[in-house]
Amino acid sequence: MLKIALILVHILIANGSLDPEKLEYHEKKIYKPPLEEVRLVLEESLKKNFAQVSVEIVDCPDLTKDPFYLASSGLVGDGTIIEYGNTKYLLPLPDKSKVYDLITSIRRIDGFKEKDFFVCGAGAGPFPLINQNSEGIYNLKVHANGSMINEGYLAKIVASGMELQKFPNNETRAAILGNLFLSEGKAGKVIKVVAKNRFGEENFISSMQKGLTQSYPTDKIIGLGGAFVMNGKANIHVMDKFSEIPINTDEELNSWLKFFDMPGPLICLGNYVSQQTDYELRFQHFHCFSKHGYGGHYHYDTTPDTVEYEGYFNIAERIVLIDKNSAISVSSKIALISKLLLILMKFLK
Ligand code: ZN
Repeated sequence: MLKIALILVHILIANGSLDPEKLEYHEKKIYKPPLEEVRLVLEESLKKNFAQVSVEIVDCPDLTKDPFYLASSGLVGDGTIIEYGNTKYLLPLPDKSKVYDLITSIRRIDGFKEKDFFVCGAGAGPFPLINQNSEGIYNLKVHANGSMINEGYLAKIVASGMELQKFPNNETRAAILGNLFLSEGKAGKVIKVVAKNRFGEENFISSMQKGLTQSYPTDKIIGLGGAFVMNGKANIHVMDKFSEIPINTDEELNSWLKFFDMPGPLICLGNYVSQQTDYELRFQHFHCFSKHGYGGHYHYDTTPDTVEYEGYFNIAERIVLIDKNSAISVSSKIALISKLLLILMKFLK
């Protein structure tokens, strides 16, 4: 009875992209310190965890080249942190109405209505493409004339383990939740970060993220985004197919997520912020791809003695939330109905 009810609810939920005009948007200007000020904070925090650290302000190299393979050469121009969707749309059960088109969603943001843009980062993959949940690794350049370069991937669970799959060039959908760094993708000054030989507890991103939190007051929110390459091995998860039974506890979540120890070089894309604020922002979120078939959600390196990181980051000027806090999600409604049915069945026994 419970299963039939769940199937009926799933059938009622459509898979088409949501109309961006109807989505809830929130935009907030954030504090953008000078690059040199942030450079010092990142250097100091990384030195607490890595034996070799160098943080410099440089002209962004051409990041379309090996080893980064980005869809755009730079990270400069109108830097924006985007958080779309919500973990409530994934857990305890997925809300399959949550499919977003990146181009139309970004074109709604002030300043991005017509110009070229580059967006990269981490989110749930576009499940309608493969009819399965996956990790999305977004890496998309869109020109003002509508032409685009799509270097995005998805990582999915298959019978033999995991599989990395490149997006078709015209696949611009994202789903459920995600964290992106948006810019005009231009050349210009960025922060280059190199860190090797980790001796501390904090990994590459969490060192820098916590350094920002400790260095700036809560009313000065700082956000950075970009890409890094890790050489070594890393703990990475890939989400399994959507669960048909509600996932409520951390234990249930960790048995549903599939963890791998993946070899580099891994190219990781995403953003990190100094404060969660009343927006309840995610502190950091990076997904990685590679040219040797590995990819997924990055947690931390597992080879601290030999690990090497090289990253390029830029500072955001604003945060945009898309459909983060719409009213009670379908997912919660399904969970509520399931719970009520279970109680009813127990009562009838
Ligand atoms: Zn993730």
